[in-house]
Amino acid sequence: MIIDYHIHTDLCGHAEGEMEEYVRSAVAKKMDEIGFSDHFPLFHVVAPDLSMSFDDLPAYINKVRELWNSYKKKIRIKLGIEVEYTAEIEKQTRELLKGYSFDYIIGSTHFIGKWVFDHPDHKDEWEKRDVYRVYEEYFDQLCRMVSSGLFDIVGHADLVKKFGYKPKQKLTALYEKLAGLVKKQDMCVEINTSGLRRPVKEIYPAEELLKICFEKGIPVTLGSDAHAPGDVARDFDKALALIRRVGYRKIAVFSARKRRLVRL
Ligand SMILES: [Zn+2]
Ligand SMILES: [Zn+2]
Repeated sequence: MIIDYHIHTDLCGHAEGEMEEYVRSAVAKKMDEIGFSDHFPLFHVVAPDLSMSFDDLPAYINKVRELWNSYKKKIRIKLGIEVEYTAEIEKQTRELLKGYSFDYIIGSTHFIGKWVFDHPDHKDEWEKRDVYRVYEEYFDQLCRMVSSGLFDIVGHADLVKKFGYKPKQKLTALYEKLAGLVKKQDMCVEINTSGLRRPVKEIYPAEELLKICFEKGIPVTLGSDAHAPGDVARDFDKALALIRRVGYRKIAVFSARKRRLVRL
């Protein structure tokens, strides 16, 4: 079974290609199942090039249903979403999510305060900060995200390494704390290959973090974080090699936010 649960669309303002082209790309790559998971509207900042708008959301949902219907003999298509988390917007996010029926919700954090730490335009800020402190703040926020209980999947768990800034200190304690909470909330972790296309040139999460997840019995999903049709399932040979090496033989799939484990 091979899936790609992290696929964006042109609605978010920084991805390219029609949704159908992503589906065709997945069919051509003989995927069993994919899920769209575009960026849920941001409302704590004004940034139309970072997420879809609330006006786009119904069209997004309808289009996924339409594609599900027309391609159901070739591939299974799920309706997912990637939702930004910061503690300041947790309450509103909880209320807003009640209005929709997704197959799964990926929780992600791309902000530290008002700083979009993974955005190339704001990369300079890294030079002004203590790298380990940024990691602490990032993982602290991720832990709160997990504890909120709002999400099914931890998106690109160590996205903070994207530009290759890494602290000298060991990260084991941060990883252990996060994985403990993920286990407690019965969530799963995404293996996201987009890091291979970034300066860090690594899959998210790091193998050390993934090993801790495996030891705790935390399931995984697979995602390319596609922002163009050709990205679908990109570098999945490397992702599969990684999860097999760590010990995984099953992968998590979702329907109406119910999780099932299937053999790889
Ligand atoms: Zn994006
Ligand atoms: Zn993301």
